[in-house]
Amino acid sequence: MLIIGAGINGIATFRDLAMQGVDVAIIDKGDYVSGASSASSHMIHGGVRYLENGEFRLVKESVEERNSLLKIAPHYVKPLKTTIPIYSTFSGVLSAPMRFLTHRQGAAQERGALLIKIGMMLYDSFSRDGGAVPRHEFLGRKASLRLLPRLNPGLKYTATYYDASMHDPERLALDVLADGLAAGAHARSANYIEAIGMDAAGVRLRNAVTGAEFSFEADIVVNTSGPWTDLTNTALGQTSTYMGGTKGSHIVLDNPELLAATGGREIFFEHKDGRIVLIFPLAGRVLIGTTDLEHDMTQPARCTEAEVDYFFDLVKHVFPDVAVDRSQIVFRFAGVRPLPRHDDEAPGFVSRDYRIESRPLGARPGTLLSLVGGKWTTFRALAEHLSGNILALLGLPRTVSTVGLAIGGGRNFPSTDAAHRVWIAANSDEVGAPRAEQLLTRYGTRASEVIEFVTADPGAGEPDAALDQHAAYSRREIEFLAATESVVHLTDLVLRRTSMAFRGELSLALLDELAGVLAPVLGWDAARAALEVELTVALLRDLHGVELESVGTASASPA
Ligand SMILES: Cc1cc2nc3c(=O)[nH]c(=O)nc-3n(C[C@H](O)[C@H](O)[C@H](O)COP(=O)(O)OP(=O)(O)OC[C@H]3O[C@@H](n4cnc5c(N)ncnc54)[C@H](O)[C@@H]3O)c2cc1C
Repeated sequence: MLIIGAGINGIATFRDLAMQGVDVAIIDKGDYVSGASSASSHMIHGGVRYLENGEFRLVKESVEERNSLLKIAPHYVKPLKTTIPIYSTFSGVLSAPMRFLTHRQGAAQERGALLIKIGMMLYDSFSRDGGAVPRHEFLGRKASLRLLPRLNPGLKYTATYYDASMHDPERLALDVLADGLAAGAHARSANYIEAIGMDAAGVRLRNAVTGAEFSFEADIVVNTSGPWTDLTNTALGQTSTYMGGTKGSHIVLDNPELLAATGGREIFFEHKDGRIVLIFPLAGRVLIGTTDLEHDMTQPARCTEAEVDYFFDLVKHVFPDVAVDRSQIVFRFAGVRPLPRHDDEAPGFVSRDYRIESRPLGARPGTLLSLVGGKWTTFRALAEHLSGNILALLGLPRTVSTVGLAIGGGRNFPSTDAAHRVWIAANSDEVGAPRAEQLLTRYGTRASEVIEFVTADPGAGEPDAALDQHAAYSRREIEFLAATESVVHLTDLVLRRTSMAFRGELSLALLDELAGVLAPVLGWDAARAALEVELTVALLRDLHGVELESVGTASASPA
């Protein structure tokens, strides 16, 4: 079996199949989780707004998966209190989730409080799971403004309910991948390997680093290349027109006033144009998104200046007296949702549900399966479904269920205060309690592997000494990531193995230092290390709106 595309859906399918003992390989043309899966709004959500399309199956599955992820990946998936401000004087009023009730589209006159209340009750009814998350709460103007005084005083009500958010989607996906690889030597993975064609010997692959090409023999090929699914099929000689993804962008703001104004909640609402948008606190920053625009998949996705204006406008709508400006943006990101082709339907209303397309491989005997759609939230259930189809094709029984199976550093995660204290006490001997705490937050219980590594070979000097340019990471920790997590480029480290870029923590001096740490582990000479810094600076500028000083300046500086 070959899985093409290592976003969360390909990776989760890989894990599921690996656990059944299937001989499976997964590849990605870029780094793991560098496609749509790194561009999400970080929500693990039941999708209250999918009620608008009457997508009850999807909402039910999403809510069940959300509740399950809170238990099986508690290190990265946390409950998220979500508040909808309801302004009856505005045209929006979160009418969207209620459209299925009224069978009307377009501008809502006054689908305010009552209908939202009904939607919340429906959502609660899907959420019944021994109280995984608390029920919704509906408050009037006064009480709402007491709790969130910076909200637009024109509001009439707020509705508050619980969903979940993932603090570090990239690391969660890497944990899922590691679990698949741990199943045995029959499960293999490689990043920077692109599927470029098909011949009688198998799928033609190209190593994106060396340019080497070779054929890979597989009986079943699964195309989980997300928004690139049609492009991949075309490369395999199997033209398809399944996809119609839309671009969505986000900005990350360092704005303590806005952070405080959210009161630690996600603020979720309908903007003037009818789009459902969000403002929410994450990792000490504020995430604002998102848009829904047509996109050409042969081009990279970028967050444009017009989208930034749109985001600032929506902040003004909800928190009118909190000032935001471009100097506070520490990171921008954009990605394309792998949605099914939608022809005339407005992007916001396209189904977020998934389906699996099957056809013969063509050039050789075998089957090509293509995944169309699939959110982050439902990755486990989707993988179970997709690998179920594959097991049926192979005539193999399912031997392991992934229902309720803990993921990576979520295994034996200390969820109560008492368990937490026990874990810290047991792991802080050599690194101290604050550092053990920091690593537990960052890696879940896999932190004990990190601690073992950073304290194993002290060499000269302090074993777990912090980087000069980043007090929260040690040199040995970076070496651990480089040695164990398939880091190929410096960008992999700053964007996906750590959240340094997302939080706006990068500087040229830090990039230089990181490249210096990676070099001996990855066999880079000085020229390659300098090139990696240069490529990272260019990519951050081009795709993430991050301007670091020119490379020459920092390299020349004593820092
Ligand atoms: C703006 C935005 C906001 C979102 N918000 C949420 C949210 O809050 N919650 C939620 O649940 N979902 C959200 N989603 C949806 C979710 O992120 C995606 O549906 C999901 O990540 C798709 O994962 P995937 O594995 O199918 O695709 P991808 O993550 O795109 O993975 C496909 C991979 O295939 C690789 N690839 C492509 N072509 C080839 C080839 N020829 N050879 C080898 N590899 C190839 C790519 O490099 C890529 O890594 C959001 C999506 C976007 C864009």
